[in-house]
Amino acid sequence: MGCGVEHGPLGAGAVSEISALIASLTREVADFPSPGIQFKDLSPLFADHRGFAAVTDALAEVASGTDLIAGVDARGFLLAGAVALRLGTGVLAVRKGGKLPPPVLSETYDLEYGTATLEIPADGIELAGRNVVIIDDVLATGGTVAATARLLRRGGATVTGAAVVLELAGLNGRDVLKPLPVSSLHTA
Ligand code: AMP
Repeated sequence: MGCGVEHGPLGAGAVSEISALIASLTREVADFPSPGIQFKDLSPLFADHRGFAAVTDALAEVASGTDLIAGVDARGFLLAGAVALRLGTGVLAVRKGGKLPPPVLSETYDLEYGTATLEIPADGIELAGRNVVIIDDVLATGGTVAATARLLRRGGATVTGAAVVLELAGLNGRDVLKPLPVSSLHTA
């Protein structure tokens, strides 16, 4: 247990306090959605005002200086919307495949369990020249964040980093994403 914040102005005391709060409000579910997966359900954290406010503030600090917040379907939407309001930016919902009308940019990738497709609109949102940070709830193998970064770059954005609430140790997601800066509020 610990925290993996790599950049941003959070002090060590604030980080360890948030890390402990996240640990206490995470529900562990064994063998979901498939055998061998230890699922981290952050629903209790999101449902707790103190917990949700604390992670929103911490993610906003590490995301400051960017001008668009990309949230990954679906739990990343909750965080990205809240962080965008804190920072005074817009938010981009990175959707699962088949949800957006055409034209879309699309990336298919491997998950810790199975494969998935993510999409963003190819029209109507100007990404060129914008500094975008990616926000999600959990970093596992890094495939989701990597696919999101590819999508955003194909749209012309500069991806400044990724910020997650919880990082799973031992899956090397952070290494897969190098040299992209990754911030996590808690490692388990
Ligand atoms: P990955 O692409 O392997 O980094 O997986 C990250 C995405 O899958 C995130 O959107 C997470 O919500 C979800 N995810 C993967 N593994 C887990 C897990 N063990 N517990 C909770 N969510 C997970």
